[in-house]
Amino acid sequence: MIITEQKSMEEIQEMFAPYEKLFIVGCGTCSTSCKTGGEDEVKEMVEKLGDRVAGWAMVEDPCDLRLDRRDLKEHKAQIADSDAILVMACGAGVQTVGTYSKKIVLPALNTLFIGETERLGKFHDMCKACGDCILDETGGICPLTRCAKGLLNGPCGGQVKGNCEVGDYENECAWVQIYDRLKEQDRLDLFTAFRPPRDYSKKTLKTHHVF
Ligand code: SF4
Ligand code: SF4
Repeated sequence: MIITEQKSMEEIQEMFAPYEKLFIVGCGTCSTSCKTGGEDEVKEMVEKLGDRVAGWAMVEDPCDLRLDRRDLKEHKAQIADSDAILVMACGAGVQTVGTYSKKIVLPALNTLFIGETERLGKFHDMCKACGDCILDETGGICPLTRCAKGLLNGPCGGQVKGNCEVGDYENECAWVQIYDRLKEQDRLDLFTAFRPPRDYSKKTLKTHHVF
């Protein structure tokens, strides 16, 4: 799931200040689970922004152009009458609503990471979408994401009692976790395997055809 947080109302008001009328789009999937852009949060936003809101709609997945076409069709007139659209979804959702509408889009949320949900409201940063997954070699724990320094070839010297020096020892050291997991799985030979530097050219491709 894409984890988001809501921007402060001051920041939203500032973005919105140059425009007269606003349409609001909420996200029925990730942002609903994060309680940052679900129907309740959209209604709260409508109330806060008052009569400058020309209308609002929920889109099941605003990052899916087909669903923007489906769920925003009946709001075409209201959208046309608006100067901008405030999108309460992740960055992909904001951009896709922009592609669909060709309107000025304003992000109501900050996109934080691709996360694991422990429970609603508690999420863990799990994946950098690097395009070259090595979780088979690292006990199913991503060093690129979960090691503060993104180290691919084992730990630095900065862990104390299993916690990472970066961030005041609040987080567990990813490489200690990787070691423990590989040991449990009797695969410690992988701990010392050499991994070459990442091929970041894989991140330059901006459109993917996956089937
Ligand atoms: S728009 Fe972003 S937050 Fe909403 S469903 Fe798509 S990926 Fe998740
Ligand atoms: S202490 Fe562990 S998690 Fe922190 S930077 Fe070093 S190897 Fe990475």
